[in-house]
Formats: sequence, structure tokens, C-alpha cells
Amino acid sequence: MKLFFCGGAGGVGASCYLVKIDGKNILMDCGIRLSSSKDTLPDFRLIQENGGIDAIVVSHAHTDHTGALPAISRQYPNALIYMTHMSKALTRVLLYDSLKIMEREAEIPIYAENHVREMLDRTVCYSPNFSFKPFNDTDIGVTFYSAGHIAGAASIYITGSKGTLFYSGDFSGFRQNSIEGASIPKLRPDVALFESTYGDKLHANREIEEQRLIDSVNEAIDRKGKVLIPAFALGRAQEIILILKKAINKKRLSKCPIYVDGMVKDICRVYKLYPNYLRRDLTKKVFRGTEIFYDDNVVPVEKPELRKEIAESKTPSVIIASSGMLTGGPSQWYAEQISQDEKNLIAITGYQDEESPGRNLMKFIESINDDGEKLNRTIKLGEREINVKCEVGKYGLSAHADKVEILNLANNLYPRRIFLVHGNPEVIHVLGKEIQKDINGQIYVPLNGEQHEISIRKPRKQRCKKVYPCMGRKDILNQENIEELWNFVETNIGTSVALSIEDLGGIWGYQQDTEEIKDVLNNSPYFEPDRRRMFLYHAVEKSEIEKLSAPKVMEVNEMLGLVDQFFGPESGLYKKGARFDEKIALLYFNFPDIARARYNDKITEFEANTGWQVEINQNINTSAIDEVVYSLFPSNMIISKISYMPQTRKVKITAEGELDNGKKLSNQFKEITGLDLVINDEDEIEPALLSEQNKKQMEQNQALRYIDEVFSTLPHRPYKKSVKVASSGVKYIELTFISKTIGEKYSDVINEVEQETGYPIAVSDSCNQIEIINIAKRLMNEKGIASKKNPSIFLDIMSVQVVLAQDIDDSMREEMVSRFSEMTGLNLELK
Ligand SMILES: [Zn+2]
Ligand SMILES: [Zn+2]
Repeated sequence: MKLFFCGGAGGVGASCYLVKIDGKNILMDCGIRLSSSKDTLPDFRLIQENGGIDAIVVSHAHTDHTGALPAISRQYPNALIYMTHMSKALTRVLLYDSLKIMEREAEIPIYAENHVREMLDRTVCYSPNFSFKPFNDTDIGVTFYSAGHIAGAASIYITGSKGTLFYSGDFSGFRQNSIEGASIPKLRPDVALFESTYGDKLHANREIEEQRLIDSVNEAIDRKGKVLIPAFALGRAQEIILILKKAINKKRLSKCPIYVDGMVKDICRVYKLYPNYLRRDLTKKVFRGTEIFYDDNVVPVEKPELRKEIAESKTPSVIIASSGMLTGGPSQWYAEQISQDEKNLIAITGYQDEESPGRNLMKFIESINDDGEKLNRTIKLGEREINVKCEVGKYGLSAHADKVEILNLANNLYPRRIFLVHGNPEVIHVLGKEIQKDINGQIYVPLNGEQHEISIRKPRKQRCKKVYPCMGRKDILNQENIEELWNFVETNIGTSVALSIEDLGGIWGYQQDTEEIKDVLNNSPYFEPDRRRMFLYHAVEKSEIEKLSAPKVMEVNEMLGLVDQFFGPESGLYKKGARFDEKIALLYFNFPDIARARYNDKITEFEANTGWQVEINQNINTSAIDEVVYSLFPSNMIISKISYMPQTRKVKITAEGELDNGKKLSNQFKEITGLDLVINDEDEIEPALLSEQNKKQMEQNQALRYIDEVFSTLPHRPYKKSVKVASSGVKYIELTFISKTIGEKYSDVINEVEQETGYPIAVSDSCNQIEIINIAKRLMNEKGIASKKNPSIFLDIMSVQVVLAQDIDDSMREEMVSRFSEMTGLNLELK
């Protein structure tokens, strides 16, 4: 890509930029300079020397962007010209007007009427947001985007195979009285040209400036004075008419005649021809047939002889007339009359060139402030020197973006190379420094006559424009109804798609300010910005939203990790687990009662830290009893039997040898285990238990058959029964259920079996993993649900995980989880 700056660089005026892309030369804008001291035209030689022009695209109708179109177009009659419909209609008015001026002022005309006509014949119109291909033999695409500023103004986006370029044209982000603000989506240009007119300033609050103007007009009218508002015919004048009309309607401005004179009238007429380019409320009015500019109060000055009448009348009035800088047009004539009475006011509302009469008038605003007097106030109006007696005021009603708006646009588009144009060098310098702080790209300040070869190694990928389904809502999106938008996006588009604010606005359906939508999005839990492209938004996952609305609960593995930090080895913790659904942490201590008493505070702290509730397993870890016994008893004693009697919470020891202090040992044992110790004392055993102990043990196989019989009518059966001998020498039966949790459910049955058979019975820690997995698979089959892979089992948390290949509804999910838990004692996690 190659860029040639033929005009509009390093200053305002004669905007004209040539871009060479995919073998085509496209000219963007071709304006003239208004101040007469410099060359009027852009540098056409630069164009000629670099291969001429294949097409021209035009941002908007202001003459600093269009004034030289007839001149360039006659040299390249094969190049078609592209602009919006509104721009074409406005350009026609402006060019015919300059023809009249050229004739009258007898300058050497740079073009003639036929050149204007032919140029307009070669002009093709496209609406904003509509991409078109200007050439048959390349894939170059061009799109206009509404740029605010004046009606029909567009930013231009050119996409080629080796890179893309964005040219802002003149733009303004805020909504004016006559038009909407710029509407530029999140494009991804490699190169961008930004206007910089007011790039060093922050605009005063627009409403405050409008009110200042209204206040000044009110004051002048109250003192029976007249007000002249010189205004640029295109854009500013329409704004002022609407501002004053609105103020009168709202009774903030005294009713007085408002006269509209000069080319302003023609522009007002054209504005109404293309209502789609106006602010939405005006669009509706025009389509309904309502007049938007004139009424009983606001009247166009149709006959020149009326001017004298207006000027000489004693009735206070307001005159809105072009030109804006008093360089010509009826405003110059009015200024001469109005300036002669101190009751009157001349209100400046726009940019004034260095040498313009308007600029000279502005100096008097400061002298009023400085001296409190109105002395020696002469200006040159045309050829005449006049003494200005009236009041002069300046009101900031700019239609150009200020610093923040330009920075915002730069940040949104994030181009790799930025060329700052259409601004004074000092302004561009300040703006460039600001952008440099924000953007990791190259900022250029080109000068007229320069060319820049830009090699783009990897052009940025353009986002494909997707058509999303629309909700067709008729109401404003707000915090109350954003859940409905989220619901719709989550169901129809999904949570992984990054959507722009414009996309989301379109999905909702109601035409609404993007800034307003952005506010709603940023303050709601339902959408979050994309991690890397913060201007795009995702619908938040359902589970995340549920989590947000529930109190904060720690993730399970993190929680389990924290268990060890809270309860070290000295606590006797030998196993941990979790019940997901209830958010319960399961802790297994060797001696649960002791642990509960000793770690009460720690448990409370743990619950507060993790958001999980602690549940302590009730069962004593019998193998830990042996360990404690052996560690406490002196080594010269031979322990022949250790039996634990759960009903009486006693541990009976049969041992040989001398024990010095049995009492002390019992106390220590009680402190560690919470159990009573009985050493070699048959009498200590309770009669009932004694009888049981004495009762003959069943024959081994008979005992196992008895167990089968008892469990035959119950939902779960042990799938393994083994007779074992404890380290203490006691024979016991170990039952293995599908999982220990299931076995523990049958503690009553097991107690009964212990008594009937005379064998102590233990439930094994192990699980039947294969069967558990099979049950999970069977459940899925039964429900006709497919999974992505085989279920995985996590014994540390007693859980089985299944990644589903499809969505299932909540009730089915609940049913499966509860059935699985009934059958296996494990948690089922469906993902
Ligand atoms: Zn402009
Ligand atoms: Zn301009």
C-alpha cells in the first residue's frame, strides 16, 4: 500500500489523499483551501506522476473535501466518484454556489459549469454500512460509515488483499440536533487516517454551550436588540435553527422572529430530501410530512429587499445567515448593520480562519473581558472598514471530534499505523503525543507532497459480518430486562461468541445509543468483555452467573488442598472427601469425637474460608486403636488381644507383664482416643456384651451364609466377604460393598449380624470400581444419553465424572445424580 498526501496534511483545507492498493489508485476527497493566501488546489502533480486515478471516494460535502472535484474529475473522466446520496445532493448545491462566486469575483475559474455537471454524472451513491466493489478486476471493497459531523458525512473503509485502510473524514461522536453521532463499528484497519481539527481540546459540554447561546440571545432580545449568527451554510446553520426552535418550544427563549438567509436555505431544502441521513426524530417528522426547520417564527428570507426591512425594524429578531466567517454572503451585509448598535449581538459559532473578519471580531470578546470597555473596534468587512459597537460572543458548537473522541476511535480500531491529518501542526503534535501513549503503533504526521510506502507483512483478518437472530424488542435495554437478552444469546448464539455492542443492540432490536448499551452491559453480571478484545462481549456461562448469585464457594480441589493445611498429621485425619451438591467436606479422623472437640475453632475457620460445610465421619478408625495401644504400652508387656466394643466405647486389652501406672496410661489413652481402656479385667465387660462374647461363634461358612441371607432382601449386598485375622489375633469378617459409603448405610444390620454370628464385622475401604463405572454407563444407556468418553472415577473425592455429548435438562440431571448416589454411594458429576 502506498499513500500520497496531496492536500489536507499539516493543516486544514484541500483534503486530498491518494492510496495505491492492489494495483489501483483511489483518491480520497479532493477539496480546496478557503484562505486565499495559499494555493487553492491540492497537489495534482503528485497524482499525475504516480499513475493518475482509478476511482474517487468522498467523505462529505464540505468544500475543503469536495471543492476541487470538478477540476480533478475532468482530468480523469474514467474514474467514477463514490459518496453518500446526501453528500451528492449537498455537493451539487455547494459547487453551483462556488460557480456563482467565481463568476462574480472574476477569479480565474478552476472549472466551469459543464465540469460540475459531468462530474456529478459520474458520481455513484451508496448508503452507509453497505460494502461495494468499485472495480470488476479486483476484490477491493469500500464501505461508508456514518461519521456524524454533517448530514451524509462518512468515514471510509477500504479493504484490499494486502491490507485495509480507514479514513475518518471529518467526524463527531456526539449526537447533534440535526444528525446522529458517528456510528463506526469495530473495524480492523492496518492503516488509519484521522482528522485532528480539535485534537488538542476537550469540547465544553455541548448543552452548556447551547444554553450560553440561548442566554445571550435572550439578553439581547430583552434589551430590544437584534442578534446575528453568521453560520456555515452546511451543518452549523441547521444546528442553530434547531437549537433556537427547541428553546422557544421549551419556553427557555422569548418568542421572536428568526430569519434564515443565504445558502443556508438551499441546504435546509436538501436536508429534507434525504431524511434517512438526519437524526431519527427528524427522519420520522419528515416522513410524516412535518416541516422541521421553519414555522411561524422561523422564516426563510426569500426576497433580498426584505433584508433592509429586517435590519431597520424596531422589533428584536435573530438572523441566521451564511457565510460563517463573514467572508461573503448575506451575513457580511447583516454584520455591517447589526454591528452599529450596542444593543445588538453578533454570535460566532464556528471555526474562523486566521485572516477572516470573523476571527478579527473575536478579538473584541477578549478586550471586553480585559478592559471592560469597547474601544477602537474596527474590522475590515470586505473592502470596508467598520466600527463595531455591538456585543460579540463566541459559542463552542463544533461538529468535529475532540481529543477524547479521537482517542476513543483510535483505541477501538487499534490501527498499526496512524496518519494524523486535517489539523494545524501544533494541534497534531499534541494529539499525536496522546495517541502514542495509548496505542502500540506507529503515529505519522505527514506533510503535503509526501508519499509513504507501507509494507504490511500480515494484514489483519477482517471480522466476517454475521447475521444474528433478532429479538425485535420495542423497548430500551436496561438492567431489568438484560437477563432476557442474555437468555436469548445463550440459547441461540452461545456463550463463546464475542459480540460487539452494535451486534447486541441489533439482536435486542430497539434502536438505542451504543454508549447507553455499553453502560448496561458493563454494569450487569450477564455479559463480560472478551479477554483480548475488550470492546467485544460474551454472554456469561450459566454456571458462572449462578455462582455469582450464590455465596462464594471454593473450587473443590482447592478446598481439599486446604484441608491438609488446617488439619496436620497430629489431628489423626486419615481421609478426606466431598459431597459436591451439598458443598460438604467429608473429614475422616481416627477419633472423631476427640477431633471435633479439639478442632472446633479450626473447623469454623475452615468453613468460613472455603464456603464448604464440614461433616466428620462418625466411625472410629479401629486400626488406629492398635497403634495407640502399642505406642503407650511399655515394650516389656506382651499384648495378646485388643478388642474394641463400640456399644460401650471401650477397648479391652489382654496383656501379660507388669504395668506400673495403669491409671495414668488409661488417662493418656482416653485423651488421645476418647475411649476407655480396660486392661485384663473381665468384670469390666458389661453383662450383655459378655454373654455375646461368650456365645459360641458360628461356624465360619454358616456365618457367611447367614450374611447372604440377611442381605438377600436388601437393596445392596456385599459382593465380597472374607474372614480375616486382625493383628490382635481376633478373627473378623470383612464385607466389601460397592463402596464403603453404601456399606456404612447398613451399620444397624451389621451390628445385628455381629451379634448373631459372634464375629466382629468390618466394612472394607475398597470400592468395586468396575461395577460403579458400569452403573454410570447403564444409567446413560437407559436415558439414551451419549457421553464423549468413558466415565472417570475419582476416589479421593468419591465422585464419577461424565462428559456429556449433549445438553440435558435439569430435572433429568437431578434424577440421574440421585439414582447414582443411591446405587453406588458416589457422586455423579455430569459435564
Ligand atoms: Zn467538514
Ligand atoms: Zn474538513
